[in-house]
Amino acid sequence: MSGSVSSNLVLKTLSLKNPKLVLLEQCSNIFDLKIIHGHMLRTHVFFDVFSASRIIAVCIDSINLLGYAIRVFSQIHNPNLFIYNAMIRGCSTSEKPVNSIHYYMQLQRAGLLPDNITHPFLVKACAHLESAAMGMQAHGQVIKHGFEQDCYVKHSLLHMYAAVGDMKAASCIFRRMGRFDVFSWTSMIQGYHKCGDVESARELFERMPEKSLVTWSTMISGYARNNRFDKAVELFRTLQAEGVVANETVMVGVISSCAHLGALAIGEKAHEYVMRNNLTLNVILGTALVDMYARCGNVEKAIQVFEELEEKDVLCWTALIDGLASHGYAEKALQYFSDMVNKGIVPRDITFTAVLKACSHGGLVERGLDIFEGMKRDHGVVPRLEHYGCMVDLLGRAGKLAEAEKFILEMPVEPNAPIWGALLGACRIHRNVEVGERVGKILIQMKPEHSGYYVLLSNIYARTNNWKDVTVMRQMMKEKGVRKSPGYSLVEIDGKVHEFTIGDKTHPEIEKIERMWEDILQKIKLAGYIGNTAEALFDIDEEEKEDALHRHSEKLAIAYGIMKIKAPGPIRIVKNLRVCEDCHIATKLISKVFKVELIVRDRNRFHHFKDGWCSCMDYW
Ligand code: ZN
Ligand code: ZN
Repeated sequence: MSGSVSSNLVLKTLSLKNPKLVLLEQCSNIFDLKIIHGHMLRTHVFFDVFSASRIIAVCIDSINLLGYAIRVFSQIHNPNLFIYNAMIRGCSTSEKPVNSIHYYMQLQRAGLLPDNITHPFLVKACAHLESAAMGMQAHGQVIKHGFEQDCYVKHSLLHMYAAVGDMKAASCIFRRMGRFDVFSWTSMIQGYHKCGDVESARELFERMPEKSLVTWSTMISGYARNNRFDKAVELFRTLQAEGVVANETVMVGVISSCAHLGALAIGEKAHEYVMRNNLTLNVILGTALVDMYARCGNVEKAIQVFEELEEKDVLCWTALIDGLASHGYAEKALQYFSDMVNKGIVPRDITFTAVLKACSHGGLVERGLDIFEGMKRDHGVVPRLEHYGCMVDLLGRAGKLAEAEKFILEMPVEPNAPIWGALLGACRIHRNVEVGERVGKILIQMKPEHSGYYVLLSNIYARTNNWKDVTVMRQMMKEKGVRKSPGYSLVEIDGKVHEFTIGDKTHPEIEKIERMWEDILQKIKLAGYIGNTAEALFDIDEEEKEDALHRHSEKLAIAYGIMKIKAPGPIRIVKNLRVCEDCHIATKLISKVFKVELIVRDRNRFHHFKDGWCSCMDYW
């Protein structure tokens, strides 16, 4: 046991005349500390303010025992500034940074004057609280006591303003900092990311004469948090080119970016990098890997990584269950759920979302109802709107439309648009105009600006050849100026992610891609593809109506994939919206004619296309 005093030694030393200092300096675990403290209390003589301050300092510095420090503090009659400073510092990074402010006020009430050690930690506490108002008050205190020019105080103020997103105040301090230091530049970069201004962050990053690993990590995870996943991955390449060795935090940013992009090859490389550089596969990094493999379509690998992880928390289990659910492996997802519960891990609300999603995609109505019932009863988790939505989806998909509608009407909370939306989606699958019309009208009233509901409803009308109402829907959308969210598809080729939007002309190989699509079209037509039928014209998709010029993005991505990836593939595509019916039919035929496997991740789930079939069994 290095660095710690064995209890034997403690007892032996206590028999010396004045052992307390030697011991406290060396003490690094709670057991020894308590023995010494108890001895001090018993012998009385030793327990003065000085000894108490040593105990507090030891608690906060070497063993991080804030609770014990707080208890010791309460026994001291006249704490000195040293003790107050230790408490303010200890609380500033704790779970309750607001306690720093309490100790600061107590200090002033005791008639003590704060010094240059007090303020940086007071300001730090405000940064952790992410409270601009408290931060400004702390700044006021700094000025009042004349510590504004102190170097550490300036750093902490800059960091605080960046953390609360007040970049104007942060820049003001930053400009007045004379010489370069990595810490304050990194704080500024962090602040820009926090406000979503990735360009300014990058500009500053480029200008930095010297970067620390924390700087790289801030920049990469900042990109990831602001949904600039391609940039995060690109920066990781630059980091490697510059010979910097990444740490675990950087890799979490990189790997979760790959998950969003569906970039399996890059994600695998990142995993190799973790292993090669002997980084610690901690629970956060492990969870990121499980999530990445699942979201990039390689479920087997996700399971393997999960099984090999030494430490697993509820988020890690949830990542795997969610991954299995979106691939349609309902039974497996439920198996892992019960394993998790049996291991004594308490499921969280998001775990139930994943489990109910699994039931829904697998058509397991009874099991889903059981689990929903048990949420509160067995696990103490009160269902949120999201869980009610899952239940509506579950009932609706299984064709129990009347039950689903009844379920919504009897909900103890007010149903929101996504819940009605789940029912409307089910009406489309089961071609139920009666319920569909009713629900569609409720939705359009609730969310007149949401394009998807008009399109869903008009699609339901189209399916029953009610062309008059289809026209009315289209008209309404025009009049209300409803905008459709732009669709895009990503495909990864040789470790590079290519993005396509509808009718995209920007890709350097676009002419070849278009010719390829024409070729594909000829071949699948021979296999029975009819193309834009009346039904497909009124897409469930939020994209524009498709014609020769406005081709859905995934068709371009598939054509590019066929050009570049040798059969049997698989070609992996990520789409931000739901796959439309026409693209779904076309992709099934492509998988058969070209003998290639296609794995498409859409907004809702995964579709594995193989031999003319899709894993969703045409329910999505
Ligand atoms: Zn489509
Ligand atoms: Zn499918």
